[in-house]
Amino acid sequence: MNMKSRLLGMAFAASDVLLELDGESVTFAIGAGPVPGVDPGAAWSGQPLESFLGDASRARVMSAVRALSPGVRSAPVDVEILTGDGRARKAVLRAFLLPDLAPFVSCAVAWQGVAYQAVAPQTEPLLDARGLLKRLSGLLGTGAVPNPPGLSVDFVEIPGLDALDDDAHRNAAQRIEACLQSASLNGASAAKLAPDRFALMRNSTDVVDLTVEIRALGAAEGLDLSAQASRADIGAVEAAVAVRTLRLALSECLKDGVTAGDRFAERLRRTVENADRFRGIVRTRDFTLAWQPIVSLDTRLVHHFEALSRFGGAHQAPTGPIAMAEELGLIEDFDLAVAEKAVSQMRKPGFGLVKAAINVSGVSLGDDRYVEGLLRMTAAAPEVRKRLMVEVTETASVPDLPAANRRLQALREADIRVCLDDYGVGAASLDYLRQLSVDLLKLDGVFAREHQADPKVQALASHLLNLCQELKIQTVAEMIETEEQAAAMKALGVDFGQGWLFGRPAETPVVAAPVTNRRRGEVVGWG
Ligand code: C2E
Ligand code: MG
Ligand code: MG
Repeated sequence: MNMKSRLLGMAFAASDVLLELDGESVTFAIGAGPVPGVDPGAAWSGQPLESFLGDASRARVMSAVRALSPGVRSAPVDVEILTGDGRARKAVLRAFLLPDLAPFVSCAVAWQGVAYQAVAPQTEPLLDARGLLKRLSGLLGTGAVPNPPGLSVDFVEIPGLDALDDDAHRNAAQRIEACLQSASLNGASAAKLAPDRFALMRNSTDVVDLTVEIRALGAAEGLDLSAQASRADIGAVEAAVAVRTLRLALSECLKDGVTAGDRFAERLRRTVENADRFRGIVRTRDFTLAWQPIVSLDTRLVHHFEALSRFGGAHQAPTGPIAMAEELGLIEDFDLAVAEKAVSQMRKPGFGLVKAAINVSGVSLGDDRYVEGLLRMTAAAPEVRKRLMVEVTETASVPDLPAANRRLQALREADIRVCLDDYGVGAASLDYLRQLSVDLLKLDGVFAREHQADPKVQALASHLLNLCQELKIQTVAEMIETEEQAAAMKALGVDFGQGWLFGRPAETPVVAAPVTNRRRGEVVGWG
């Protein structure tokens, strides 16, 4: 073994970081940084020592260094080392001027106490559960999320923290909360789920054991606190996917009142699995379309069919997977896959001249990809474009209405009709109608269902109908299950109806339910 390694081993036996100064600045640094991810060699070399010392310790350290004489070691100096992200760590520093190396000064730094201590006396207050979700949403698109391995969520439980209402417990709770906040991503991503339960987002590379920190903080107040911590890791995925997946799993847990780390980890694992399965479904096109007729309320003739996606052998309804796909940013690929499937079916000889509506989530109108894709796949089939309509669902998720409108108009210019789905639910509905120019409007099922019983719904519906007539927008009422509902919607002036009364979604576009007048399955024009 060589002497150099021996000496290095001995030096590290008494310290965590070794520094060399040329008087004021660091010329060399090696060892374990104050918090994970800070490499002292990279962070401090070439920097003035003062630049990463806390206010309180700066003068003390510099005067100790300046007072050194060759061969004499300084007294231990208590210092606060800044980590550059609003945190500091307490340490003890000793300086030594080896005659051979003069004027270079050798320093040994040994970390003391907890790794996470806010520099400012007051850290950001902890978030609540809702705040944590908002914080996750706020991270999207900011570039603030660490790259893979990226984000983790730690759940921390400290039994007994809230047991006693005395100064020691209050102080310990305050210190612990500040520690958790400082340990969290950007020092502002920790939440208190209950008085003794916390969740915090952390950089996955940060593996400091918070239970040790918590025990030390409790001990500082004379308390024997124990903590359990568990980590849910998302794995090495792209930052935006990680944030979205965590947000979905977390929101489901919080909705169900789940605050235990192991159950969250289980939920997160399931969310990741479901997302993978959905990606697979999109990739392999392993879903089908069910076709439901939309009829003229006047003649009961089929006007067009709506394509509704179905998953799995049991032709499962899509609400769950679609909501998930919207949350996780997977819906655009799916909407394109639906469009592809519908267009290919519409081009098949047996399909006749049937007109069809496909659903597109408002999320998919957030960029050009969906509209460009749909135009591309119908470019060689102008007759299909004339028979095609898109229904915009989840309008609340349209990120930028003017931009979405430009995209919708590109479709309309290419002879593809546009419909607003589920209209009338949500406070901003009128604004959608103002900002999005469309051909049809589909009244939410609530109108058919509650029109007869609720005078307020009647008043709203009749105003809405007047508005649509003035704007020359045709209307569809959905969820019509009874003749009474059909009659009420017709009396209101609604043009078309959809619902069990006229036909359930079926494998092929056929009319299954009673149709009065004329021949079954006869198709009339869009107008
Ligand atoms: P939506 O577009 O409003 O579709 C109407 C939903 O109401 C369908 O449910 C349909 O089966 C159901 N329905 C039709 N008539 C009646 C009735 O008389 N009574 C009752 N109780 N229900 C009726 P489904 O197929 O489960 O679809 C649910 C939602 O999922 C759709 O609502 C749409 O928002 C979304 N969705 C379906 N397919 C797709 C798709 O390919 N892409 C996207 N982005 N979303 C889709
Ligand atoms: Mg629809
Ligand atoms: Mg609808």
